[in-house]
Amino acid sequence: MAFAVGLTGGIGSGKTTISDLFAELGVDVIDTDEIARELSRKGQPAMRQIEEQFGPDVIASDGSLDRDRMRELVFSDPDAREKLQQILHPLIRAEVQRRLAASGKLYALVVVPLLVESRGYDFADRVLVVDCSEERQIERVMQRSGLSRDQAKAIMVSQASRNERLAAADDVINNDGKIAALRSQVEKLHRHYLTLAESA
Ligand code: ADP
Repeated sequence: MAFAVGLTGGIGSGKTTISDLFAELGVDVIDTDEIARELSRKGQPAMRQIEEQFGPDVIASDGSLDRDRMRELVFSDPDAREKLQQILHPLIRAEVQRRLAASGKLYALVVVPLLVESRGYDFADRVLVVDCSEERQIERVMQRSGLSRDQAKAIMVSQASRNERLAAADDVINNDGKIAALRSQVEKLHRHYLTLAESA
């Protein structure tokens, strides 16, 4: 079983950019968003439970999850969010464990956007938080997704705060600077994780 480093951070903080840099170093990256998308395809066992719980409105015409509708629903209703998590989290967790067991590497990076917000995600041996100022986050989300400042802020308010995330961190990677400044931080952490994983 590979040692698991959980990578988290708010929307637009730089998780994808950073996990790409770890992947360049040969690290196995396990993306829980991607696993969630696979579980929400037509015919997946989770879809039956989702339809029973939320009704046919959240199912797209091709039988997969209507992710936009579901996002709207959980955004406005914490109860719905909790119920969706109860369905998906055990399945995501099991798939992460399967991939960690299948990885031939010393450690793997598990990208979990809502690691701090979610209970039951205790598979990380170590938590790495991507940190940047809220203003940077807003700028990047606006630029990447074409959202307005208010829309970007509304998403951020629904997520853990910068301080809550930092309180959960074993390691922090700062992404207030240029993308080029990330590589040396990633290389240093990579060496650190290899050492930790060797003695785990
Ligand atoms: P996340 O996966 O956390 O949502 P991304 O890695 O996708 O964040 O980064 C959000 C956006 O900001 C992307 O368009 C990315 O290219 C850009 N970005 C990330 N880090 C930097 C940086 N240091 N400087 C400039 N742009 C950045």
